[in-house]
Amino acid sequence: MPRVAFYTLGCKLNYAETSYLRQQFEKAGYTVVPFGERADVVLINTCTVTESADAECRKIIRRALRSAPGAFIGVTGCYAQLNAEEIARIGGVSAIFGNQEKGFLVELVERLRQMGGGPHVMVSPFHSPCFTPARSADDDSRTRAFLKIQDGCSYRCSFCTIPKARGPSRSMPFEQLEEHIRALEEAGYREVVLTGVNLGEYRAPTGERLIDVLRFLERRRPSFRVRLSSLEPNLVTPELIELVAHSELICPHFHIPLQSGSPEILRRMRRRYTVDRYRRVVDLILERIPHCAIGVDVLTGFPGETEEHFAATYRFLEELPIAYIHAFTYSEREGTPAATMSGRVPIPVRRARTHRLRQLSDRKRREFYRRNLGTLRTVIPEVYDAATGTWEGWTENYIRVRFASPPTLPREPRKVRLLQLDDGVVLSCSEDPVPDLVDEAEPVTPCVVLLPVLASA
Ligand code: SF4
Repeated sequence: MPRVAFYTLGCKLNYAETSYLRQQFEKAGYTVVPFGERADVVLINTCTVTESADAECRKIIRRALRSAPGAFIGVTGCYAQLNAEEIARIGGVSAIFGNQEKGFLVELVERLRQMGGGPHVMVSPFHSPCFTPARSADDDSRTRAFLKIQDGCSYRCSFCTIPKARGPSRSMPFEQLEEHIRALEEAGYREVVLTGVNLGEYRAPTGERLIDVLRFLERRRPSFRVRLSSLEPNLVTPELIELVAHSELICPHFHIPLQSGSPEILRRMRRRYTVDRYRRVVDLILERIPHCAIGVDVLTGFPGETEEHFAATYRFLEELPIAYIHAFTYSEREGTPAATMSGRVPIPVRRARTHRLRQLSDRKRREFYRRNLGTLRTVIPEVYDAATGTWEGWTENYIRVRFASPPTLPREPRKVRLLQLDDGVVLSCSEDPVPDLVDEAEPVTPCVVLLPVLASA
């Protein structure tokens, strides 16, 4: 039996797609082996979000060439889609496949293995791209899975290469949802994260939007809870917030990219909302769902970002009652309008700003946890630590809790009471499973729960 190894870089979408590829190769009779072991085929699913992501991809390709000499080395994903020549120059790579080729990789690899030689470059432009489904488990847990329902992006943010790397927005046909839900139920997942490049732009070929997907899930009542991945602020509508506010299935957790709190920088970024609109969205969410977790993406060091612009972003975030910030350092991406804009920010300054936002994020998270102390939440036990006799998991509103319980505890939703926060550590308690995720607040037996200390790197 031929042996195949995979390596994935980048976002959850890429992980979901590698998982899909793994299933396809297994179906075709391949044995999947860990990356680094002897293999006949090695496939690397790449990312190109920053310059350092590109460098990491090249490093992994070289590692594959060393660890599997003589193997068929295939490179796919966003870096492959945009920089095939750069990969070909590494030498020794058998084939480079674009993102669209991911849908037919088994056949392509089989054919090219017979032909030999290389590097073969098979990267199609996105004329009329089709949607390739993917669902995968989170590597950290056996309870959470990701379901890709949307791909690509038709926006034109000035710093972003994703529309080039993944093509225009397209979505899973609505009628395929049921099949995926059933498979995820059968696999026993207790939480499913709906993902996409621009999830809020979900539009089925038959016209359904994201709100219709959520209404369908509400009616269907799957045996898992549902979490939404990142949504653009202009797509978080009052209707959507209202649905989440009334839902016992959809987690009260929104991740909404802001990118900058300076109106001028937002305009240069070509984002589709204003700072005021962003604030109104956050206010409305918290008015309707006071315990909701709101996460924010921010990009530091965009061309032209002065100290004043950054200070405006910092102040804006400081005032917002959000739960956490994901701060990213801007890096020039070839072919994007931002790459040629004036006002380059020195790299150490960009990094220092990212660091400050990460520190602010730690503070925000602590404050959010503190606001939730004393409340009852639902946690899905994910990881057991035999040394401390405790379980860890996430609440529906994205608080990491740890509680003492036997190792035989079923990985089913449980009520926990959040008891104590101590230097980035929450102490909490658990008991009673939550039938069908919709139980009323049950009395709980207090016990101590610890949270890992939050990272500030
Ligand atoms: S919304 Fe903007 S940043 Fe996000 S993927 Fe689309 S173009 Fe890129």
